[in-house]
Amino acid sequence: MNVQSKIAIRHSTCPHDCPSACGLDIEVIDGRSIGRVRGSKQQTYTAGVVCAKVARYAERIHHPERLMYPMRRTGPKGSGQFARITWDEALDEIAARFDEAERDFGAESVWPYYYAGTMGLVMRDGLNRLTHEKKYSRFYGTICSTIAWAGFAAGTGKIAGVDPREMVKSDLIVIWGTNPVSTQVNVMTHATKARKERGAKIAAIDIYDNDTMKQADIKILLRPGTDGAFACGVMHVLFRDGFADRAYLEKFTDASPELEAHLATRTPEWASNICGVPAAEIEAFAHLIGNTPRSFFRLGYGFTRSRNGAAQMHAALCIPAVTGAWQHEGGGAFFNNGAIWKFDKTLIEGLDAIDPKVRRLDQSRIGRILTGDADALQNGPPVKAMLIQNTNPITVAPEQALVRQGFMRDDLFVAVHEQFMTETAMMADLVLPATMFMEHDDLYYGGGHQHISVGAKLIDAPEECRSNHAVLQGLAARLGATHRGFAMTSREIIDETLRSSGRGGIDELETDIWRDLQPDFRASHYLDGFAHADGKFHFKADWANVPLANAGLMGAWEDMPSFPDHWAVIEAIDEAHPFRLATSPSRSFLNTSFNETPSSQAREGAPTVMIHPVDAADHGIADGDAVMLGNPRGETTLTARVFDGVRRGVLIAESIFPNKSHLGGRGINMLTGGEAVAPYGGAAFHDNKVWVKKA
Ligand code: SF4
Repeated sequence: MNVQSKIAIRHSTCPHDCPSACGLDIEVIDGRSIGRVRGSKQQTYTAGVVCAKVARYAERIHHPERLMYPMRRTGPKGSGQFARITWDEALDEIAARFDEAERDFGAESVWPYYYAGTMGLVMRDGLNRLTHEKKYSRFYGTICSTIAWAGFAAGTGKIAGVDPREMVKSDLIVIWGTNPVSTQVNVMTHATKARKERGAKIAAIDIYDNDTMKQADIKILLRPGTDGAFACGVMHVLFRDGFADRAYLEKFTDASPELEAHLATRTPEWASNICGVPAAEIEAFAHLIGNTPRSFFRLGYGFTRSRNGAAQMHAALCIPAVTGAWQHEGGGAFFNNGAIWKFDKTLIEGLDAIDPKVRRLDQSRIGRILTGDADALQNGPPVKAMLIQNTNPITVAPEQALVRQGFMRDDLFVAVHEQFMTETAMMADLVLPATMFMEHDDLYYGGGHQHISVGAKLIDAPEECRSNHAVLQGLAARLGATHRGFAMTSREIIDETLRSSGRGGIDELETDIWRDLQPDFRASHYLDGFAHADGKFHFKADWANVPLANAGLMGAWEDMPSFPDHWAVIEAIDEAHPFRLATSPSRSFLNTSFNETPSSQAREGAPTVMIHPVDAADHGIADGDAVMLGNPRGETTLTARVFDGVRRGVLIAESIFPNKSHLGGRGINMLTGGEAVAPYGGAAFHDNKVWVKKA
């Protein structure tokens, strides 16, 4: 007898590391499993659209290879040999190893490590509560956004901007340093609506002819790391040809005769020599900007992957300040809404237990840290024990050769709490099975929009999977960590966090489903002044004092140009390394999330590297050939894709594939560097010199 399944539509928010944080309508079948996932039409940013990988989330959450039980390593590190153990055995062992490290080397020898595999505040950031309570080494998260955030905040004074839904009121949408067709599809929803409804033009500025550029009306193809030069060339024309809004500059910015004199030397020809865009194209683009008051600059995370990324973001951001586009509906700029949430994270992160004397170790320098680099360790004790949640550093972190070497250390104890047997989990001493977002309660915000929401538990987790919070509760009890947050449920933590943030309680937010926190028009457009103390937009960046939480100045910050400019610190090619490589994000993977789903695997295939036809011919490389890429940091092997949508001398390897997908098992991050990027740290994933040869 056929029994009809009961399908209920429940709401949630996509937890993945993507600015869209889409509002979701999820089919829950018989209260036990999920079916189709759709974008909420009710949530006005998502507007009914989600990416393909999350629409098929059933294949991820019900994947046969999900981790189901705690396991202990039984063979050599990395061998993949594990045996099932109980949760009590696992938690007892972690606690014993953490206590042992603390006894022998001090509390700072324990380094809890996490990142944005979930963006839910309770599950992502709760590990900090244990860190702070126990005085373990603190975690400085730099891998994703620090570089670009510094550049944006240097100009505006904070990370916030024009409502991205206002793109529908724009006449020109400049999508710069992001490929939203692949990585944040909702940007295109609003941009294409503007094109359809008011004939707006879409301009894409990027380093290869990606899926967004293919849909754009205007395409600007830059050499990697030269956005600042292009921006200066554009501003030169804007000032020279009378498009600068003098009244706006006077009232809202720190523009000075020195700025103009500086930009007068940054001619389109000067810019063209650096960025590769013909001077006539720079002139034409500047005139388009100058003639289009409602120009919306949607700036992206591409800026944050370059050694000069902060200066480049700042330079791009300066353009709408020259024209005064900020004054107009549909004009101005947006990158991220980090400053609008104002969550009180004391309870979630245990901020009341912080000891500022405890060192903060830089996430991006994990390879150096685990291999004993004294500078990266800040001359403190070695790291001897780790718990890792929501991230896969063996595949995603730079300097992969060092990261692997570190994880191979016999004297390093590592527990990994994960959803799948990632390559980091494979190297662990203990592996713990983790819940997915529909199996626990959490609180979400959208970096790329303005909504907050509660994502409630919708179905039971399979077998013995536990949430991050539950694991922390189990460890806290064993480690004598007494912060009151460990005695609370996730819902209680969400409720108190919302209340102490002035947002009502969890019940009210669940009633709202998605709450829109976009500041009003005047605030979003900075019409009552920018967020610096003087109320001005800063063309002259004060890099030592950017209003942004940080762990101190890093890298060659003293050499940064204060006026918008091309800062020539990118990893320049040389005779032995004649190509520049960028590791741009693929459409169907999200870092290494979705590496395991059949539809993502089928769409992405094997790791490829795009190479210009002339370069390919010069090197005797044909489409489909296996090719090796290398530099002083390491080597990797991919399949050549001969493509005229990249510039000569540029290679693009859309990422991130598992290391094991590469012939030889060495991943793309063998080639990326881990030195701290100015001014406050970060990793330059798109900024690599390499050689290439047929494998
Ligand atoms: S576009 Fe981003 S936020 Fe939206 S469903 Fe896909 S991964 Fe999640």
